[in-house]
Amino acid sequence: MTPGDELLFLALGGSGEIGTNVNLYGCRGKWLMVDCGLTFGDHDYPGIDLVLPDLDFIERRRRDLVGLVLTHGHEDHIGAIPYLAADLKVPIYATAFTAGLVAGKLEEEGLTGQVQVRIVEQTAELDLAPFRVTYVPVAHSIAEANALLIETPHGRVFHTGDWKIDDTPVLGNTTSPERLTAIGDEGVLALVCDSTNAFNEQVSGSEADVYDGLLKTVADAPGRVLVTTFASNAGRLDTIGRVAEATGRRIALAGRSVERNIKVAKATGYLRDFPEPVRYDEAMRLPRSELLILATGGQGEPRAALGRIAAGNHELKLGNGDTVIFSSRQIPGNENAVGAIMNQLSKLGVVTVTDRQAHVHVSGHPGRPELKKMYDWIRPEVLIPVHGEPRHLREQARFGEANGIPRAIVQENGEVIRLGPGEPRKLGEERVGKLVLDGDVILPADGTTINERRRMAFGGVIAVSIALDRRGALIGEPLVRPLGVPVEEDRADFIRDAADMAARAVGPRMDEEKLREAVRLAVRRCATAWTGKKPLVEVMVLRS
Ligand SMILES: [Zn+2]
Ligand SMILES: [Zn+2]
Repeated sequence: MTPGDELLFLALGGSGEIGTNVNLYGCRGKWLMVDCGLTFGDHDYPGIDLVLPDLDFIERRRRDLVGLVLTHGHEDHIGAIPYLAADLKVPIYATAFTAGLVAGKLEEEGLTGQVQVRIVEQTAELDLAPFRVTYVPVAHSIAEANALLIETPHGRVFHTGDWKIDDTPVLGNTTSPERLTAIGDEGVLALVCDSTNAFNEQVSGSEADVYDGLLKTVADAPGRVLVTTFASNAGRLDTIGRVAEATGRRIALAGRSVERNIKVAKATGYLRDFPEPVRYDEAMRLPRSELLILATGGQGEPRAALGRIAAGNHELKLGNGDTVIFSSRQIPGNENAVGAIMNQLSKLGVVTVTDRQAHVHVSGHPGRPELKKMYDWIRPEVLIPVHGEPRHLREQARFGEANGIPRAIVQENGEVIRLGPGEPRKLGEERVGKLVLDGDVILPADGTTINERRRMAFGGVIAVSIALDRRGALIGEPLVRPLGVPVEEDRADFIRDAADMAARAVGPRMDEEKLREAVRLAVRRCATAWTGKKPLVEVMVLRS
């Protein structure tokens, strides 16, 4: 697939899922990449923390890649860069705050200097022929969020990135109706638009209103208060800092990403008035009503600060009468993990407050009234919903067509869309997939390791060792070792039975492969009869 004299769109991630955003535009033999994000592992990937997009498609065409342009600094847009960008060998373009976050990640991975990050002004126009990319500031739950106006020989694309409408964003950009209307006036072929909140009838709400909600909640709290939020939401950090000051509380920072984000924000001109944090020992000596802890871990990550504080494994302690405020939304899929932490806190006598009890959070993504405004400003010929699960993409497509856009195309990762010339349509499909970071190793998400891991996690493993003499006759008893197989009290009996079955499966003059398979099946049948499970069985044959 090489783009001819046409304009193509291809998502390698983020379409049909929330996370791992990677979008490609193709024109006259060249590709432009927008964002390179990751997502967090779940029960589909036992033992895995990070899931990355598979960039094989563009790695094979990296000579034709003109650049990687970043819209903003959220993990689902920049998180995969430290793991994958060095192989692309193209310049990365980002505004100062986003570039600061990327630089921090590269440094952590020891990649400083190996990836070229070019800092651009928020008014930048990049000449990445045949593309011309203009940054267009928009409001979102992070500083320096940008939409991109992408001009090509076959028409103009308005790529919204993550956005919302917020005239009082505390910090960061507003979405300018005048600017967007002017862009629409000049004609836009395609609007590639955030679908996260396509089902929400309400507007997202203003970041400034969160101040009042947090102020009231913190002012009413008798003991220590812990507020958890996304560390990259510098506006929210600013709000929390001001709430601490207004309620006479010193602030303590818990979690590396909070500290890193505050450092990057200060270095790029934000959070100048953020209060000086107290050390942990000092914090624990303060009267309980004079401390506010700002912590990571609001999504239930057990190793993040909140999880460790809830488990009592942190220098900062919470107890009876203290309050934890979740100033963030639970990402779908994290409910159980967050619930587990809330239960731990509850056992300590800590009161938990979420956006259901108080106005302590607003979303960073557009609800339907905001989407409608975007359509009216931009007036595209075609709408391409992105940044959503299949239901979100379909809902935005319906909503767009019901609100004056002539045509919407629902696409998912890997589907190549020709935006022009002529009627926009699907051209074909490219192979896409996911990678996982397992320890320090990057692996295909559907490869042998992860498949074995899933099967081990699901049914356990039985290792069987068999010793044979030169003539192929069994020496001694087979050794059987079950791991994660449900045979606790019967373990010894089961092992005896399984060893017996294994021994009986050894026939005369079997070749090794046949022997292994016979023993494997015999032991598995035995395990199924005992437990109803089908564990993995691994047979080792030793010959004298
Ligand atoms: Zn975002
Ligand atoms: Zn996003």
